[in-house]
Amino acid sequence: MAPYSLLVTRLQKALGVRQYHVASVLCQRAKVAMSHFEPNEYIRYDLLEKNINIVRKRLNRPLTLSEKIVYGHLDDPAKQEVERGKTYLRLRPDRVAMQDATAQMAMLQFISSGLPKVAVPSTIHCDHLIEAQLGGEKDLRRAKDINQEVYNFLATAGAKYGVGFWRPGSGIIHQIILENYAYPGVLLIGTDSHTPNGGGLGGICIGVGGADAVDVMAGIPWELKCPKVIGVKLTGSLSGWTSPKDVILKVAGILTVKGGTGAIVEYHGPGVDSISCTGMATICNMGAEIGATTSVFPYNHRMKKYLSKTGREDIAKLADEYKDHLVPDPGCHYDQLIEINLNELKPHINGPFTPDLAHPVAEVGTVAEKEGWPLDIRVGLIGSCTNSSYEDMGRSAAVAKQALAHGLKCKSQFTITPGSEQIRATIERDGYAQILREVGGIVLANACGPCIGQWDRKDIKKGEKNTIVTSYNRNFTGRNDANPETHAFVTSPEIVTALAIAGTLKFNPETDFLTGKDGKKFKLEAPDADELPQAEFDPGQDTYQHPPKDSSGQRVDVSPTSQRLQLLEPFDKWDGKDLEDLQILIKVKGKCTTDHISAAGPWLKFRGHLDNISNNLLIGAINVENGKANSVRNAVTQEFGPVPDTARYYKKHGIRWVVIGDENYGEGSSREHAALEPRHLGGRAIITKSFARIHETNLKKQGLLPLTFADPADYNKIHPVDKLTIQGLKDFAPGKPLKCIIKHPNGTQETILLNHTFNETQIEWFRAGSALNRMKELQQQ
Ligand code: SF4
Repeated sequence: MAPYSLLVTRLQKALGVRQYHVASVLCQRAKVAMSHFEPNEYIRYDLLEKNINIVRKRLNRPLTLSEKIVYGHLDDPAKQEVERGKTYLRLRPDRVAMQDATAQMAMLQFISSGLPKVAVPSTIHCDHLIEAQLGGEKDLRRAKDINQEVYNFLATAGAKYGVGFWRPGSGIIHQIILENYAYPGVLLIGTDSHTPNGGGLGGICIGVGGADAVDVMAGIPWELKCPKVIGVKLTGSLSGWTSPKDVILKVAGILTVKGGTGAIVEYHGPGVDSISCTGMATICNMGAEIGATTSVFPYNHRMKKYLSKTGREDIAKLADEYKDHLVPDPGCHYDQLIEINLNELKPHINGPFTPDLAHPVAEVGTVAEKEGWPLDIRVGLIGSCTNSSYEDMGRSAAVAKQALAHGLKCKSQFTITPGSEQIRATIERDGYAQILREVGGIVLANACGPCIGQWDRKDIKKGEKNTIVTSYNRNFTGRNDANPETHAFVTSPEIVTALAIAGTLKFNPETDFLTGKDGKKFKLEAPDADELPQAEFDPGQDTYQHPPKDSSGQRVDVSPTSQRLQLLEPFDKWDGKDLEDLQILIKVKGKCTTDHISAAGPWLKFRGHLDNISNNLLIGAINVENGKANSVRNAVTQEFGPVPDTARYYKKHGIRWVVIGDENYGEGSSREHAALEPRHLGGRAIITKSFARIHETNLKKQGLLPLTFADPADYNKIHPVDKLTIQGLKDFAPGKPLKCIIKHPNGTQETILLNHTFNETQIEWFRAGSALNRMKELQQQ
């Protein structure tokens, strides 16, 4: 396979860039390319510095790192009001990344904006639609066949509108971003909730909905509520079985799934240097599980090493020159401070059903016995964007090698998902893949696979209670295999490997013994592996398509009869009236993630077809009235039926409706379909105790009203058979609560107050019917 430098040469040729031109770009101090793939798009540290200086002078206080990067990207640093947790910032991100499931809707929205080209460097990554069935090559072939129409749409839309396209098989979006596009100080937005992975390379990388991506691609400043900053001070150093994953599993246990809401988590302290760059990425990646806006590490020698190994010494050199702006100021203030001594940190495993249920590995077996969770591990799965680095694979292989030396293989099934084609090719070359196969593993395609429910699981029947352990980031009910009885736990890849070898949750590799084929007992040594390959990375196959210089003749086909893609119709404008007599579609009980609102797995194939995917609306949410999923009362017929069917009935009969939700409604993935679907089927408002940040913004973008009970106890005043009237929309203003009249079927009424977080711009979106409608209005003015 070709070394990295050859890949770059190949790309330069493909891009029509003469080599001396790129070399000269890379040598100039002030003009370093953001990425090898875009030699004419430069890193603007000079602008970052200028903006930081303006804001620092105004605020007259030391700044945290995330403040520097965020404020360094302000559209108007001299005038923008900056107050953490209060004001809305208008930002100019450097780039956009989209995964294939969300890119379909983002590109459909971009097409409907009527703009000719994207305004900032953007990329599409084909990773979510590849189902794990037989193993890497076969699964990839099958996916290319099944998803041909979607891949063709994304490739041609990318070519037409100037977006780089990473073909299926290239790898998982966040790994590719880390390898090629993230750099210290970048502000990147991505249509995937684990975009924060890039914080491992010192960037502020934020997961957003497709409509936000459309704003940035259209060159419109992007709005973000000025984040609070949670500091995590790391002391001591990682060693033994403890890994970067344990840092975030511990933080998740402390902050819980909503503890990071509205905040950036900023790691600092002497312990940072003991963590590899890809390890820092793991920690930032899973910051999404605590609801954080994003997470970030300060620029250090580990990042420099990673940049150099991935062919970006030029960026590292430039970052060295601007280092003061890529680390926090001494004495800066955090809104909350957590301290973790890495010397005392123990390997953790979190779950089941939620990523913040933290247990030390030493204790999980006992807890599982007490709780009645199955101890037998049916499948161990390593990889995903969270943990698929060279180091992760090396540490897992180091564990597997010891088992093999004693004649053992995995007792559980075992799968490996390389994060990128580069990782796959390099671990094949360096022998890790072979070791993992020998211990019983199946190497899957470089894609999300079981992490997003793309798993043709055969070993159990649906409804069968079982346990799996993964090195992924999310373990909500049904996420991996659509079986609500699968108890999924998340932990580091080396612990997954050890547990898959032992086959039971009761095994603690730090203290317990295994029995070798010869009958002798032995203990697994803590794994030791290189953080980066000693030789160059092997880039593997060329999987990138750069947009052509002239795309005027490029066609983008969307068939009107397609079941996978559908051009968008604009949503209706607000009619200027209060919302009278809204029917309650469902009053949700307990956790309602975006997986519950718009399920993934088999539904991923409809992500480009709004009407078809709307058939999964809220099918995973539990109805408070009967404790069941996907069973709600039709207020007209009084019959119970599926949620989407009931919503369609209401839409057909002109009945507008509302959803009542519990705490942290819409947590989890950033998927905007969870906002588009209720709007498409006639929803007008979602009223909850609280929202997850991205989902709340997504709802606003689609012209819905995300509202919260001024008094959370008012949740109990509403019954599924009531009707609601929302008043005050004519005077809709930031910070001003709306009134809600609850009309009970017995004729009595109650009035409650509803809060909202709309700012002026977002109120315009509501009035126009959606953010996209508003964008078109502005274009026409
Ligand atoms: S979390 Fe899973 S589904 Fe999401 S990008 Fe990462 S690997 Fe893919």
